[in-house]
Amino acid sequence: MEQSVAGFDGSLGTGNGYLPAGSGKSDRVRGGVLAQGVTPAAPLPHPFLRAENLTHSYAVAGRALRLFDGLSFELNTAELVAVVGPSGAGKSTLLHILGALDTPSSGRVVCDATCVTTLTRKQAARYRNLEVGYVWQFHYLLPEFSAAENVAMPLLARGDRKSEALHSACSWLERVGLSGRAEHRAGELSGGEQQRVAIARALITEPKLLLADEPTGDLDSETSESVFSLIESLHRSREMTTVLVTHNMALARRVDRVLRLTRGKLEEVSPEAV
Ligand code: ADP
Repeated sequence: MEQSVAGFDGSLGTGNGYLPAGSGKSDRVRGGVLAQGVTPAAPLPHPFLRAENLTHSYAVAGRALRLFDGLSFELNTAELVAVVGPSGAGKSTLLHILGALDTPSSGRVVCDATCVTTLTRKQAARYRNLEVGYVWQFHYLLPEFSAAENVAMPLLARGDRKSEALHSACSWLERVGLSGRAEHRAGELSGGEQQRVAIARALITEPKLLLADEPTGDLDSETSESVFSLIESLHRSREMTTVLVTHNMALARRVDRVLRLTRGKLEEVSPEAV
């Protein structure tokens, strides 16, 4: 699984077609030190994820719907990145490619030394289970199962003992503010509670990459705020890279970096400017 990470040495500068990692808020934090003329003792972190020259097309009514036109970008460890852009631009498709749910027509994604785009089906399933947490707009919980059972699913899927998986699920439910709901059936919970359960399910495997596709898109504004704040605080408390697709510009302003996908191109925009 160890793929060559040649070129992951931070040696690529701008002007090479890449959107380098850390050119947003997190870089500005580091820039506070750099601005005082202090040379950093350690080199900047290597990109955690690198997408190289991605293209993707769907065949629709006998014609190719070309979504991406050679997308290249990098994400650093622990960055919280929003992907914004008009509906139909390909944001969800991009997330699916990063999470090995889909493969691009060409190009590759390397995540933490794994070449995601060349994994076999079995390897991709393992990558998804071990390395990636997903939160979708619609939580996709199993309504007849309890909140704890839903959260425990990824651990059960990888063969952990049920008692241990449920124990871990209960502690995750506590972290997302639902300690009193462990035995409730998922179908009995409110929309915001269900999304909290989905977040706990996404994080129970301690993934390095969290992919969230419109996680607040189906919620009212107050619940949306509390779910985003939960994702934000869980993200900040972990060495996790989070990519969040959102149409909510107020939320996008609170992330480290914003990437806007329009007409097949990705551009970096300042979070304050969205
Ligand atoms: P976004 O998340 O930005 O709204 P999507 O990634 O969901 O965009 O979809 C981008 C475009 O690709 C849309 O026009 C959509 O209809 C099309 N599309 C998505 N999945 C498929 C598919 N499996 N087959 C054909 N077209 C698809």
